[in-house]
Amino acid sequence: MSGTPPEETPANGQTKPRQTAAPAFSRFFETTPLAAMTREEWESLCCGCGRCCLVKLKNGATGTIHTTSVACRYLDPWSCSCAVYAERSAWTACCVAFSCDTPEVFAWLPESCAYRLLYEGKPLPEWHHLVSGNRETVHAAGVSVRGKITRAKQITWERLARALDP
Ligand code: SF4
Ligand code: SF4
Repeated sequence: MSGTPPEETPANGQTKPRQTAAPAFSRFFETTPLAAMTREEWESLCCGCGRCCLVKLKNGATGTIHTTSVACRYLDPWSCSCAVYAERSAWTACCVAFSCDTPEVFAWLPESCAYRLLYEGKPLPEWHHLVSGNRETVHAAGVSVRGKITRAKQITWERLARALDP
């Protein structure tokens, strides 16, 4: 995912987040709409699961989105964070930005993603660091891709087919 990082002003230009510490104030996500969040709030929502960095395929007939276990080459398999976050749009054209201005992209995010959950009016789960207070709980709960992925410099259709829906 990619894009120009948003300014410090609220909302509309928010992009794919990086893993950051939560703002000092807590549970802002229960009262502040996504579109009104500051950059700090927006970025802190990312739990660091890494699932949005897996290669996905869309069935052209049904519209169903299938997630593979093949990750972007820049995803760190242990921390599940992006190794080139600041310049990611320059490193890969496959990194898609999302914001409240591009709601169609939310469908490509995993159902567990904080951005998708809040966009759909759902609460954050107990393992989310803004609820648990611990960034390791996303891994302990088995939600992140830690230990579950392969990375590919060259992605072939055959490889993707073998890696569908991990
Ligand atoms: S799927 Fe959502 S919560 Fe997980 S790394 Fe991507 S943006 Fe962050
Ligand atoms: S460049 Fe790759 S690892 Fe980094 S955010 Fe984009 S998809 Fe994820």
